[in-house]
Amino acid sequence: MDRDPILLTPGPLTTTLRTKTAMLRDWGSWDADFIAVTARVRARLLDIVSGQGSHVVVPLQGSGTFSVEAAVATLVPRDGHVLVLDNGAYCKRAAKLSQMMGRRASVMAFAEDQAVSAAALDARLQVDASVTHVILIHCETGTGVENPLAAVAAVCQRHGKGLIVDAMSSFAALPIDAAALRFDALVAASGKCLEGVPGMGFVFIRKEVLDGCAGNSQSLAMDLHDQHTYMERTGQWRFTPPTHVVVALDEAISQFIEEGGQPARLARYSDNCRTLIDGLGALGLRPFLAPDLQAPIIVTVHAPAHPAYSFKRFYDGAKARGFLLYPGKLTEVETFRVGCIGAISRREMALAVSAIADTLREMGIDCHAAP
Ligand SMILES: *Cc1c(COP(=O)(O)O)cnc(C)c1O
Repeated sequence: MDRDPILLTPGPLTTTLRTKTAMLRDWGSWDADFIAVTARVRARLLDIVSGQGSHVVVPLQGSGTFSVEAAVATLVPRDGHVLVLDNGAYCKRAAKLSQMMGRRASVMAFAEDQAVSAAALDARLQVDASVTHVILIHCETGTGVENPLAAVAAVCQRHGKGLIVDAMSSFAALPIDAAALRFDALVAASGKCLEGVPGMGFVFIRKEVLDGCAGNSQSLAMDLHDQHTYMERTGQWRFTPPTHVVVALDEAISQFIEEGGQPARLARYSDNCRTLIDGLGALGLRPFLAPDLQAPIIVTVHAPAHPAYSFKRFYDGAKARGFLLYPGKLTEVETFRVGCIGAISRREMALAVSAIADTLREMGIDCHAAP
């Protein structure tokens, strides 16, 4: 096939030709032209959360996890105590990396098919004063659950606890207003709902907590306080920046603004998600989550209960038709995942449903074809 497949995954995502074309140049990292691109990206990222004045944004090389790890290392003192609200795989990853950073880490476990509970957090913080920071995954990409960010932020504020939000898969799609919501750090990345290419993360940090972060990090490369100080002083990245990723993100942000910003992106992804769930429903395929918990980011779907089903064959069949799906991440039930994000719209989602129907038919799995 001479066309790229459509990526129905949580990233990397399908990008526009404009975004891809932006990468066809070479940039000097110390040059004024590239410094201007970095400054523009940072300013426009802050605009998206209304964080100008109150927050800084610190970009960091690497995939999204690098920035989560850097946020924990930079924000949490070495004798701090992190409490992770856990309803899925990315929550478990945040707990593990906190522990590996040498921080005391506790986990509050919730069911994977439920949102985490702000009321349960409230009760826990009343009896455990040792917690210094709470980690919340806004959209748990392992299942697609949207967790209650505003309610958790309010509980953390009331108890005077720091809040670190992994908003990797929700930022730029779900509303996040730094003026209405108190967090210490919020983490996202280039290759998710902004529809850039992967390769850099960025962390919004509340200015009031930034100065207190000096010297927390035990890592040189992951020290966001140091990265920020250097960038403020020179306009440059501390170490070699992913120049092509940064210019692609700059171009992707321009298109994000042209489309109508976060509300327009949410509307498109919601339409994608509805088209997908309705189409799969007509084939007899059910989503794992109740509709009120489902973020329009990624949908976990129960695999057909049929002896001929195997994810590998299913994946290969969909790929041959031009769509890359994603495996499920649940241990108890057989599922697959379909992303609703990226530079795609209802048309691609409808074609994906047809590709899935054709693939299942080819595998000898009976499904009620859509009329
Ligand atoms: C994508 C994602 C990450 C980062 O994953 P990487 O593979 O490191 O880019 C972290 N948290 C969530 C919720 C994500 O969706």
